[in-house]
Amino acid sequence: MAKVTLEDIVKRYDGDVLAVDDVSLEIEDGDFVTLVGPSGSGKSTILRMLAGVVTASEGRILFGEKDVTDVPPQERDVAMVFQNYALYPNMTVRENMEFGLKMQGVDADERRASVEDAADLLQIEELLDRDVQQLSGGQQQRVALGRSIVRDPEVFLLDEPLANLDAKLRTEMRATLVELQRELGVTTVYVTHNQIEAMTMSDRVAVLDKGTIQQLAAPQELYRNPANQFVADFIGTPSMNFLDVETFHENGAVRLANAVFDIEVPVDTVAGSAIRDATTDGGAYTLGIRPQNLLVSEHGTTDGELAGQIEVVVVETAGDELILHLEENDIRVKAVVDEDMDIEHGDVVDVTIDPANIHLFDPTTGDALLR
Ligand code: ADP
Repeated sequence: MAKVTLEDIVKRYDGDVLAVDDVSLEIEDGDFVTLVGPSGSGKSTILRMLAGVVTASEGRILFGEKDVTDVPPQERDVAMVFQNYALYPNMTVRENMEFGLKMQGVDADERRASVEDAADLLQIEELLDRDVQQLSGGQQQRVALGRSIVRDPEVFLLDEPLANLDAKLRTEMRATLVELQRELGVTTVYVTHNQIEAMTMSDRVAVLDKGTIQQLAAPQELYRNPANQFVADFIGTPSMNFLDVETFHENGAVRLANAVFDIEVPVDTVAGSAIRDATTDGGAYTLGIRPQNLLVSEHGTTDGELAGQIEVVVVETAGDELILHLEENDIRVKAVVDEDMDIEHGDVVDVTIDPANIHLFDPTTGDALLR
């Protein structure tokens, strides 16, 4: 097992594509860290540099104290699992799992013991003598995982390993992987474009965009305190609502307003005092509010401070909740409400917003202002 360190890593591919732009990252021994971001953000390139199959243009990679930047893949103690796990088709599960060990010259007894331990962990003992072509997708993915863990690697690298599985299996395999990683205690770097996988599986998540880390934090911290608008937008479903607002300071409160919403934020709250200090009258800001934090009630029933009134244009049913699309004066937001709320399109609803739940961003840089 090893701590993994990336120091000022840059990767330029031929043709001058800047795929990774000065990434530094420390992954503690035994941690599960996920790299998440849209397609093309540099996730796989970082993983391939850790595996040694892609060479960094600048910077250093350390496993523990050892500089492995120029160490070839076969001399790095890593195991990698891909989306296309490509098992050897004419071999049994056992033969697939022990193939790497055989190549390394490990003797038969030791191979058998390692394979059986891994099969036990992955609950595939009864499949060991089956041909891999007879297995389901989920079983094949377990074999691919087994094939990599029998080698007892220092670092485990996973590139979208669940992408080819159907939704139900994906959820199951998420839990299997987390359990497996805990049991093995192996430093793990996981790549996905799926923020739900990132949020549910990892100790920490690095959100990438255009080859740079936008934020590295524990899942809850990313959700509660996104560092900028990109992270706020990427993490959470449905995505956070963003509204262009102007600020006004009046009677010991600040107000954030646009053509539909007008939110009073008392200055004796954390957000209020931060807004008072960070903003000027008439200043333009981007207000962020999660759909779960737009509190919707029937027209005219709200006591207390109303943030706005707005028309329901679409009602989506999503299990035990409804996702409402609300629109007025070209301003569109989404809200999540309980499934038993009696509401239909065309209704006008009251919206309240607890100022404790708002986010504020600089409209030019996208940086969060209330952290
Ligand atoms: P992700 O895994 O986040 O989808 P990648 O690391 O695959 O991103 O790609 C990052 C950028 O590098 C993209 O612009 C991609 O087109 C480019 N890229 C990836 N691999 C190569 C390559 N072998 N040659 C040239 N450009 C590449």
